[in-house]
Amino acid sequence: MKAIVVGSGAGGAVAARELAQNGFKVTILEAGHPFSPLTHRVSWLSSLRGTWFLKDENSIKHVFPHYGVTRASQDLAIFRGVTEGGCTTISCGNMVRAENGLKEIGLDLSEEYEEIEKTLTITPIPRDRWRPLTQQMYDKAEQMGYAPKPTPKVADLSKCIGCGYCELGCITGAKWDSRSVYKGYLGKGISLLTDTTVQKVLLEGNRAYGALVSHGSSTEKISADVVVLSAGGIGTAQILQASNLPARDNLWVDVVLTVGGVSKGSRMLNEPPMAWFIKKDNYILSPYFDLLSYWLHKPWKDVSTLDRVGMMIKLADTEQGTVAADGSVKKGLTKADYESLDKAKIEAKRIMEASGITGPFVDGMVHGGHLGGTVPLTRNDVETMHPSWLPQDLWVADLSLMPRSQGLPTMLTASALSLRVARRISQEKGKR
Ligand SMILES: Cc1cc2nc3c(=O)[nH]c(=O)nc-3n(C[C@H](O)[C@H](O)[C@H](O)COP(=O)(O)OP(=O)(O)OC[C@H]3O[C@@H](n4cnc5c(N)ncnc54)[C@H](O)[C@@H]3O)c2cc1C
Repeated sequence: MKAIVVGSGAGGAVAARELAQNGFKVTILEAGHPFSPLTHRVSWLSSLRGTWFLKDENSIKHVFPHYGVTRASQDLAIFRGVTEGGCTTISCGNMVRAENGLKEIGLDLSEEYEEIEKTLTITPIPRDRWRPLTQQMYDKAEQMGYAPKPTPKVADLSKCIGCGYCELGCITGAKWDSRSVYKGYLGKGISLLTDTTVQKVLLEGNRAYGALVSHGSSTEKISADVVVLSAGGIGTAQILQASNLPARDNLWVDVVLTVGGVSKGSRMLNEPPMAWFIKKDNYILSPYFDLLSYWLHKPWKDVSTLDRVGMMIKLADTEQGTVAADGSVKKGLTKADYESLDKAKIEAKRIMEASGITGPFVDGMVHGGHLGGTVPLTRNDVETMHPSWLPQDLWVADLSLMPRSQGLPTMLTASALSLRVARRISQEKGKR
């Protein structure tokens, strides 16, 4: 039996491996190029901040072409990895269970979480590898009653050199990404086509039988018994819309805003990002040198890498974004989002000030990169893991299925959802 899996990120990798283990001949169709981390030195870029070369978020592509960039509104830029391994290749390596909204729909992913966690090395970065200021902020936050916790990371720490550039790929191979999930199956049940963009799903009546793909200027039809969309919250919705199938206007992105301050000689970039975090109801706070704001956001221009300090707010935003068939996205921030951000900014600033960090405190760029919610599961779909409006043999296995925003790292959740879906596909196809 043949399966197409669209996308090789967190969801696609797990779906492909699980299906291959159950006897499917799997083809992964990946729009991006093979991934390679940024290896050239980027310190020279600092002198170009504020010039045309680094004029807005799209300029990141001059530095690192694996980033996909979308402007969703005046308020919000969206970043994602369009490359083999998807967003996992540009992650900070944080690995936690993000479960907001699962109880409401009666979905318990404990077994899948446990199973995936067992295959990975998940461990916090030891405190002695944090920069002194990061240690100090942790202690202050603790004294102030915020209950900070070291962040679980999925990485081989013996290889981590603490360069701080996780989001530009890992040059030592210390950090996990989803390519390792299926690597051992390539040529043994899984074949991978990169630079291959799925334009739409091929449908016959209410059944999917393949995908129309483009590769450079040529197009091709690829048929299969099962089509699994794991193209992420935007990619999956785009393919559905282009196939005349609906996606829900429920996109969430986990809005990120980093409050920037100044501490002379703190060298915050020289440590793994987000070494610890504070969990509040709908956001986290975490020490973070926001590279995107450092390079691309004018208000951050006047402070050097040596002295810039950041505290990230990652907010579970209101689920109300839309994705069109051409991939364009419309999403702003709601009044409730702004109120939560304002509250979080005050807390971030309090912790920074208590740790001796001085102003001016400046907001970083508002952006998001945890993309989900466009094919949200409902209570009625949980048994089958097949949203009722999808045609037969068309499945979704990525973060699109997650109805609610998280304000937390999401790779593990995308993987766990996908594992459950792939098992249901195997059961379903076995029955038929
Ligand atoms: C900068 C950044 C840092 C992050 N850091 C963390 C972190 O530290 N920890 C964490 O848990 N999460 C992190 N995340 C979020 C996490 O990586 C994602 O939520 C997760 O990978 C989502 O998995 P997915 O399978 O839904 O989508 P993705 O991983 O995005 O995979 C989608 C794949 O589909 C491909 N694709 C899209 N459209 C098409 C098409 N038409 N045809 C073929 N292929 C297509 C894409 O190229 C991509 O490879 C981060 C995200 C970003 C952007």
